[in-house]
Amino acid sequence: MEMVYTSQDFAVLGHLQSELEGQGIECVVRGQHLLGGVGELPPIECWPELWVVDSGRGPEARAHIEALLAPAGARTGPWTCGGCGEENPATFSECWHCGEEDLPLKEAC
Ligand SMILES: [Zn+2]
Repeated sequence: MEMVYTSQDFAVLGHLQSELEGQGIECVVRGQHLLGGVGELPPIECWPELWVVDSGRGPEARAHIEALLAPAGARTGPWTCGGCGEENPATFSECWHCGEEDLPLKEAC
């Protein structure tokens, strides 16, 4: 078993778990039982954790997680629409001009 990610947000862990399992990497979320209280956020050492069952796949799992989490956090400035070329503020997820989604650039094949 290898711990690959921790977050106070169960939605994120659940999403990562299903993505990793979609890649054939078996994983479990641990620590749910610690979250009984209401209101206050748990201290970081009590955050739920995502564990990969097969430690040998830990690095692979981390790479997937990094890729999955990167697009949302990576954009720090305006982006240019791939559909019409208009510039959009970083807070827009769709082009104000033509409605095209801001998808990460696809690697050329
Ligand atoms: Zn556009």
